[in-house]
Amino acid sequence: MPYSKRLVSAGLQAEQTPKTRAGESGVPEQRMKESMTRLETALIAKYGEGERERLQRGIKQVADFWRPEDGDTGVFEDFVGRNFAGDPKTRDTLFDRLEFALESIDGHMLEMNRDFRRQSDLDLGPIYPFDETLAGYDPSAHVNDDLFANKLAFTVLLNFPLTTLAERLKDGQNWSRRQWAEARLAERFSKRIPADVNLAIGEASAQAAQYISQYNIWMHHLLDDRGNRLFPQGLRLLAHWNLRDEIKADYADPKTGLAQQRMIQKVMERIVTQTIPEAVINNPHVDWNPATNEVRPAAVEDSDSTTTRGRNVSGDPEPNTRYAMLLKTYQASRKADPYSPTAPTLIARRFDENREIPEARFQKMLEDVLGSPLVARVAALIQKRLGRPLEPFDIWYSGFRSRGAYSETQLDEIVRKKYPTAEAYKTDIPNLLIKLGFSKEKAEFLASNIVVDPARGSGHAMGASRRADKAHLRTRVEKNGMNYKGFNIAVHEMGHNVEQTISLNEIDHTLLQGVPNTAFTEALAFVFQGHDLELLGLTRPDARSQATKTLNDFWGTYEIAGVALVDMGVWHWMYAHPDATPAQMRDATLQISRDIWNRYYAPIFGSRDVVLLAIYSHMIDSFLYLPDYPLGHMIAFQIEQKMEKSGSIGSEFERMAKAGNIAPDIWMKQATGAPVGPEALLAATRQALEDVERTKEK
Ligand SMILES: [Zn+2]
Repeated sequence: MPYSKRLVSAGLQAEQTPKTRAGESGVPEQRMKESMTRLETALIAKYGEGERERLQRGIKQVADFWRPEDGDTGVFEDFVGRNFAGDPKTRDTLFDRLEFALESIDGHMLEMNRDFRRQSDLDLGPIYPFDETLAGYDPSAHVNDDLFANKLAFTVLLNFPLTTLAERLKDGQNWSRRQWAEARLAERFSKRIPADVNLAIGEASAQAAQYISQYNIWMHHLLDDRGNRLFPQGLRLLAHWNLRDEIKADYADPKTGLAQQRMIQKVMERIVTQTIPEAVINNPHVDWNPATNEVRPAAVEDSDSTTTRGRNVSGDPEPNTRYAMLLKTYQASRKADPYSPTAPTLIARRFDENREIPEARFQKMLEDVLGSPLVARVAALIQKRLGRPLEPFDIWYSGFRSRGAYSETQLDEIVRKKYPTAEAYKTDIPNLLIKLGFSKEKAEFLASNIVVDPARGSGHAMGASRRADKAHLRTRVEKNGMNYKGFNIAVHEMGHNVEQTISLNEIDHTLLQGVPNTAFTEALAFVFQGHDLELLGLTRPDARSQATKTLNDFWGTYEIAGVALVDMGVWHWMYAHPDATPAQMRDATLQISRDIWNRYYAPIFGSRDVVLLAIYSHMIDSFLYLPDYPLGHMIAFQIEQKMEKSGSIGSEFERMAKAGNIAPDIWMKQATGAPVGPEALLAATRQALEDVERTKEK
């Protein structure tokens, strides 16, 4: 474009004025404004009045992200003048080119990453230090920086609109698939976070994760008031996961289970309130009575660990480290706010971008579960089964887990015979898919796109990101063949792989590949997993055990919904108190947690001011991740309910997975007729209660 050359004037340095625009661009505001006006006039003259709205929006989007290192106003004008796609044909060409190229770069980056992780992910012998280095490298880490540096990102921002969640939800219902693909294309570049900010976030995250990963309690060293040790030697439990799972396991122990559960609750409360003596954390060389908080040198030795031996044996409390860690993750997250104009807080990034459900509506969904009259009915059933009044730790009641018609040993034997090797499972994939209702042709197509690898861990699914590549099913096969647990997981992962293959290979736009968020792919994988017995030629679990499974899921959602509300409350409090001290943070967390308990749990449990909801470690190191859990339960019930109704998994699964990565509510409306919400969960629970109340307790 010829006109731009002359606009390249003296360098920015010489003319810098103190006044800069809000976007940290460092380019003088007045000069930038003049440039924008000049561009608008020139380009309207060239392409016509009809382009004005697009043009204004595009120029503003570029200006919002433009920094001094991108060039002065002359470079800016030259760039916009040359890269505005002012007619539909050029715009289509640009769109096609980007869709093709981005599929390639994403797909190849994913393949490289998979190859770099090969040794650490697969069961292929020892892991050397260099394997760890390979696995830790992410080749795609700088792609977005590169695409801003070479200005391809600006080309996208100039020609395709950035949208807010409100726009996507309101206008998105009437968008064409191409418009959705354009929205996803632009979103890729909706933030330009400087490397030092990303580094700070990474460091805060790593520090908090490190703190969490070392937070062990040595259970044999817990003493009750009579000096008894309730837990076996050597038992070391990580907060909060292992502590919670121990509470769940203790229901099976009629003798000491209750005393153990009460003791663990006390330990959890000490952690949350930070009255826990610092000396007892991850230290097998002291004994501790969590009720009185008395600490003494250990009277018994049950570990080889020497690192903490000789550590000061005092009752001094942990100095609010838990809350200092949480505050650090907040302080780091905040640094990204100015570089994320369409979602300028971590809270907005989680709800508007990751979950794409407005926070207010999300909160209402949680409250609908928490305040449901079904809670009291399920609680009464639990109380009856326990034969005692509920105690606060019963939010983790696990007794609804059903025992099936077949023993684990029987199932192991059936599976082992059928699948002596990973290869045998792979060969059987088309048959399994036909049993799930896919046509023979479709089953073969899907199977041909899935590679089966021997997993080092329990198993996982890794989708492809370009169509020429394949999805990988990583599954665990023991030396003497696959066992039932491995099979159950393999079926789950196969569900992911089938979703991944359909939502990449059968979709109209690769820019829309995938599902709206992880809760959706999990829900689809659970549908497969729920039919694993039929795939072995056995009968499905009976109505009663399906009903108790539903009650188990409902109770779990009731528990985690409160935890999610605490997580949300804490982040809002931090944004309202940016300079809080760890002690203030602790007090606020306790208050939020008590308030939510008193509102939704106290009426059921009969005790007030319980702080257990704040025990989750995710709250400290996972940046407002906890609300994903209740969301996942709700979505799983919606999808299951629809599949049950239609009676055919194969065709429904395919229809749903083809919708791709559009807004969750719109995806769900297309899939089930209703937006994302708790109604399916509540309806299934109501039905399950009736089923259980109708049939006698065994
Ligand atoms: Zn999964």
